[in-house]
Amino acid sequence: MTEGEQLVQTTIRSGDATLCAAGDGKLVYRLTGRGIGALVTAVEKERADSHGPLDWGDKLVGRAAALLFTLVRPRSVFALTMSTGAQDVLRAAGILFGCDAVIVDVLNRTGTGPCPMEAAVSGIDDPLAALEKLKQVSQSLSDAGRKRAPEKGESMNNLVDRFLHYTSFDTQSDEHSVTFPSTEKQLVLAHELDTELQGLGLKDSSVDANGYVSATLPANCESPDAVPVIAFLAHMDTSPDASGMGVKPRIVTAYDGKDIVLDAEKNMVLSPADFPDMLLHKGEDFIVADGTTLLGADDKAGIAEIMTAVEYLLAHPEVKHGTIKIAFTPDEEVGQGVDRFDVPKFGAKYAYTLDGDELGSLEYENFNAASAEFEITGKSIHPGTAKGIMKNAALIAAELTALFPSDETPRSTEKYEGFFHLTSINGVCEKAEVKYIIRDHDKHRFEQRKSMAHATCDFLNAKYGEDTVTVHVRDSYYNMREVIEQNMILVDVARDVMEKLGIAPLVKPVRGGTDGARLSYMGLPCPNLFTGGRNYHGPFEYIVIQSMEKAVQVIVGIAEAFASRSATVA
Ligand SMILES: [Zn+2]
Repeated sequence: MTEGEQLVQTTIRSGDATLCAAGDGKLVYRLTGRGIGALVTAVEKERADSHGPLDWGDKLVGRAAALLFTLVRPRSVFALTMSTGAQDVLRAAGILFGCDAVIVDVLNRTGTGPCPMEAAVSGIDDPLAALEKLKQVSQSLSDAGRKRAPEKGESMNNLVDRFLHYTSFDTQSDEHSVTFPSTEKQLVLAHELDTELQGLGLKDSSVDANGYVSATLPANCESPDAVPVIAFLAHMDTSPDASGMGVKPRIVTAYDGKDIVLDAEKNMVLSPADFPDMLLHKGEDFIVADGTTLLGADDKAGIAEIMTAVEYLLAHPEVKHGTIKIAFTPDEEVGQGVDRFDVPKFGAKYAYTLDGDELGSLEYENFNAASAEFEITGKSIHPGTAKGIMKNAALIAAELTALFPSDETPRSTEKYEGFFHLTSINGVCEKAEVKYIIRDHDKHRFEQRKSMAHATCDFLNAKYGEDTVTVHVRDSYYNMREVIEQNMILVDVARDVMEKLGIAPLVKPVRGGTDGARLSYMGLPCPNLFTGGRNYHGPFEYIVIQSMEKAVQVIVGIAEAFASRSATVA
């Protein structure tokens, strides 16, 4: 591969440009526009300036784009996705080409019809005639675009573009930080999202001092006061467990059920042997990273899905809904995402987080969580004369851990089974420190587990003397089930909407916490919905585009269902 081809491929694959061209080892064109407009602009400019044969790259090359490329006599054309019609045109013109995926027709994403540009050049073989025709069509589409809202298919196209764009922001949070949000880079995405919401027409969109992005989609139904205000939330940060810098997303179209090589050199392979759920989505389109970073679907997919649902609802005034609130939050991954969230001011009655994984996930149960920190004070003395006097804090620490049931650890539990997890142990003869986290879905068993931490402490003090061991038990969060059970409409509506869309609801307990759990106890009941992503927090993270589209439909469906429910009740 030449240096130019290499440069073009890297640029397109990284998402830094949707169209580019390279000559003499550097980029001559680099455009980020959507649709064929960017190519028309570049082709006209190149016909005037002529740099000689260049290596060109474009995200998607159909027959229309291929005809335009022949006008600038490229050295080569690379595309992430290329149609067979485009290949015929390039082959006939003697132009080298390559692509990651081949498709037969360029359709709009929902497959409801052909791409308008492809339809425009059907039957046209002369490149100049194609150029004129495409200019006309793109002009009339953009005139129309100013007057009318985008079609469903166009909105869905934006879904993937949006997500890919968000993954270019490094928004990793930091558990050791003392600031809020924990990292300043999260604010860069916050402002970008605010601008986008404003651009969509949500006039009250804002970013507050803590980095919370919030906005309102006004109601369009008949009696909005009768419809509860519902909210959709997603978090902007990515996990500190893996790098989120320089994410290079790649679309694998029509997944064939085999291994997906993320990085051949480092032998990073996303394999159904390790992740059998991949096979549930054979034939669908995956987005993966390159094996060096996480993808960031957790939770940028949630953001892209909410944003696209908002865009869809704005474009479809016939879909009636009540007031919808939107919020994008920082620092979920470091457990403080909603610490400063002002629930009364936000003004929603119910909410959903879009932060689950597999298609259909509907989560409203999570752990009750606490931490228990033991401090052990020993008595150090020369070991030769220590009999009856020395208290070795480190040894007592070891004894303490042995008092906890050995089969109630994360390693030996699943589903609804709770555990004690030893997170750290440190000590010398004089002083030792032991830290546990305690988890249980069941409130009663949770309380028992906490009592057990106290009992352990009492037992050791009885043995070694008062104040040898102290324990500090602190609750972290609770199972939202208790709150949601008082507000089952949230689960019923989501389940109903999914079933109508042909999605089997997958209700499972979360073995962790969610921002929604915290919010539920702050007065905003908030179960968690799927985004379609998998293998979060690491380089094997992937997401299925078709599941993302379903998530958008679920959001739209929920918005609609709350309004129609209230209408029938009234
Ligand atoms: Zn998440």
